[in-house]
Amino acid sequence: MAIDNFIANFLEIKDPNIEFHEAFQTIKENGVTTKILSGTLSYPLEACPKCGVRNKSTQDMIKYGFAESTIKLPSMNFNALVLKLKKQKYQCKHCGEYSLVTTPLVDPGCFISNDLKRMVAVELGEVQSMTLIARRYSISDYTVVKVLKKAGKALAPSYRTLPEHIGIDEFKSVKSVQESMSCILMDAHEKKLFDILPDRKQNAIRDYFMRYS
Ligand SMILES: [Zn+2]
Repeated sequence: MAIDNFIANFLEIKDPNIEFHEAFQTIKENGVTTKILSGTLSYPLEACPKCGVRNKSTQDMIKYGFAESTIKLPSMNFNALVLKLKKQKYQCKHCGEYSLVTTPLVDPGCFISNDLKRMVAVELGEVQSMTLIARRYSISDYTVVKVLKKAGKALAPSYRTLPEHIGIDEFKSVKSVQESMSCILMDAHEKKLFDILPDRKQNAIRDYFMRYS
């Protein structure tokens, strides 16, 4: 089996447009071991994402080098795992704009793989510290919070009944502002995320609970 397919299968990366370069590199930094995988993402763009013109020949779009991004993948054997991915860049001859090819592995402009986001979202459903989750996946607390906020939007509790036992945890919800702390409410019995409060101040928490009859 070619090294390409082996790595792709092993990591369950289901994008045939990614060609993996070589075996893993390993670096050690601050006691954390990171495995680095590198690959190239390239395929012919069907149309210009900016102006929509069909890409039929080099009269329409031309290859314009690569842009490299470093994508965090789910950890492997307790080691952090990143993919240095060179994405093919195109220039449109009609509108002059540049575009990068995309992959279902990661959202455009994002550096955390979608698989990793899903894993964090699942972990957040359990009662546990967010710092612990961040450490387990070698990502920042901030990234965990971003995933949590996305999950929180999908919660939308009915404001009718509260769980019998509630666990409360707090977290910093903005990267740089020290004061901005949010509250997460867990259903302690079901061990599930119940709701997220944007504010942990006493008044805000009281107002929240007063909504329940
Ligand atoms: Zn264009």
